[in-house]
Amino acid sequence: MRLEYALTVCDPRSLMVADIQASTSRSSGLSKADIMTALGYVQRQEHAGLALLYAKYLKHDNEISYALDALWQYSQTKHASSNIKGRAIMRQLVALALFDYCRTPEDKGQQCPACKGRKEVRDRKAEEQLYEICSKVVELTKPCKRCHGTGLKALPKSNVVTIVQKMMPKANERTIYRTWIPIYNELVQWCYTQEEEASRSYSRMVRM
Ligand SMILES: [Zn+2]
Repeated sequence: MRLEYALTVCDPRSLMVADIQASTSRSSGLSKADIMTALGYVQRQEHAGLALLYAKYLKHDNEISYALDALWQYSQTKHASSNIKGRAIMRQLVALALFDYCRTPEDKGQQCPACKGRKEVRDRKAEEQLYEICSKVVELTKPCKRCHGTGLKALPKSNVVTIVQKMMPKANERTIYRTWIPIYNELVQWCYTQEEEASRSYSRMVRM
């Protein structure tokens, strides 16, 4: 069972995914107690990663604040600023990066317009080729190029420009793209890395 589903097993608010839980938990052979033990282990090993996953899939307020705090701490180890404006920009970038990471194709208004959040699109060329070979109409799909298979619409980087220019009206776009956008991308990437670490830790635990 994948970690994002495991989270919902112990969450009374996740009735929507009850069917997935039931089937995946049966097929994995894990009891609810096993899953809770594994989650406890992951929390001790990869607290930030687990909090990020809870924030993303279950939108738990307390986990969102934990994740926000962890991301802020990370930003300060790499890009601590001695001036108030710099810190204010960083606080907003951290919040935006967390929002960016926490989006799922199920969230209203976040679907990629090309694949409607399905992560893949019809592969007409492959369908035609197959038809030429065996005269059979088969629907084939390929990962959506526009969203790189995430199912999410792109978040405009101009959001970062707006945040920076509110604090530093004289900062020009080119400078912002050169200095702040890489930091923003790094913050988002940190969230994904923490998620991967948490997933790995969970997999190790349930395979034992
Ligand atoms: Zn797409």
